[in-house]
Amino acid sequence: MKYIVIGAGWFGIRAVQAIESLSAESEITVLQVGSKDYIDISIANPRLAVEPEMVDVAYQPLTKAWKRANLIHIHEIKHVSSGEVIIIDTNGIEKTLEADGVIIATGTVQKSSLMKDSKGKSKEDRYAEFISFRNAVQNSKAGVLVIGGGMTGTELIAEVATDFPDVKCTLVNKPELLLAGSSKRSSMHKVVMKQLTKLGINVINNDYIEDVNEDYMGGPKTFTTKKGVKIDADVVILCVGGRPNIPFPVGDDAIDETTRGLVVNGAMLCENIGVDPTKPVWAIGDCTQYGGRGMFADAHIKAMLSSMVHFEKHGSTKAGPMSYNHKPSEECPCLVSVGRRGGAITLPFPNAMLGRALKSKDLGLKFIYNAQFKVKL
Ligand SMILES: Cc1cc2nc3c(=O)[nH]c(=O)nc-3n(C[C@H](O)[C@H](O)[C@H](O)COP(=O)(O)OP(=O)(O)OC[C@H]3O[C@@H](n4cnc5c(N)ncnc54)[C@H](O)[C@@H]3O)c2cc1C
Repeated sequence: MKYIVIGAGWFGIRAVQAIESLSAESEITVLQVGSKDYIDISIANPRLAVEPEMVDVAYQPLTKAWKRANLIHIHEIKHVSSGEVIIIDTNGIEKTLEADGVIIATGTVQKSSLMKDSKGKSKEDRYAEFISFRNAVQNSKAGVLVIGGGMTGTELIAEVATDFPDVKCTLVNKPELLLAGSSKRSSMHKVVMKQLTKLGINVINNDYIEDVNEDYMGGPKTFTTKKGVKIDADVVILCVGGRPNIPFPVGDDAIDETTRGLVVNGAMLCENIGVDPTKPVWAIGDCTQYGGRGMFADAHIKAMLSSMVHFEKHGSTKAGPMSYNHKPSEECPCLVSVGRRGGAITLPFPNAMLGRALKSKDLGLKFIYNAQFKVKL
């Protein structure tokens, strides 16, 4: 069978590995926008922002994660339907690619391109971005402001405050508690707040700043929160407002009204895009938001794989298994780093020591790359 995987992020790589495990005969083409040819699961970005040299460890070649998939860099996806994907190639030429099955794994877009690269930049471009952020922080006179106290914002401000103790750091978080989506949230909030305060970070919860739509590095500016608190900063990173990335036109019925992610069923099939069950279209990962935000890859991959096994055997996904089994993120263990010297984990109870031991050294990359992709760092 011929498969096309769109997106070479966390779930795209796992999809390739799943197809490779199905049969040695299958032909797999991976379409990746831009020029990204390395593993990038975003987890390391807060550390890379202060330690850009770590890209050489964090960004491993995609060829280490799969055996025989063919990576094609593209400019744009124009259309996806049963059996075909229309692309604009890197020379600007429109092409139609045919496949028996298509897997969409295009992730999310976030307001901060520093914290999440959905455009598929090269390793060199990402390195340059991280260097220019670090230089801006190093030269900051007015201070660094991070907006959004979820995992990304909390980790980023802690990295900055750890490596640049003389720079004024402020975190503004709309909810009363940090770490939305974390299990045992109120205890995790307390454990993490204590560490942020110790690092000298000014954490403002239960307040927000309107009208900032992108990261900023430049001359000093004053930002005013809804409650009237004035904050001076010359570096601002937006860690709010991520949304599913659906970079080609689809009908309204293909998008979930609440999550804005792609509608899929229990087999991760996008039946509104791939209407022909003999030429199925699956969607996995953050572009679906299926089962909630921050899903673990295993549940999506398992559900898709059993559907693929049925498809390979019967030539159709009709009456195939619907084996999706999701544990909401509030029930999953949450592991957060607080700079190089801090951290927190929810298991067995919210505590800093174990969190630090498991994550702060390399953000858990060595463990995750081995467990998820069989890639040794
Ligand atoms: C800073 C940060 C820290 C995080 N920390 C954690 C953590 O500790 N634990 C955890 O479980 N999760 C964490 N996450 C979330 C995790 O990164 C995502 O859940 C995961 O990456 C989702 O994988 P995905 O394959 O769906 O999307 P992505 O990994 O985003 O991959 C999508 C891929 O599709 C490509 N693409 C986009 N558009 C197109 C197109 N038109 N054509 C082709 N390719 C395209 C993108 O360039 C990208 O390579 C973190 C996220 C961020 C931003």
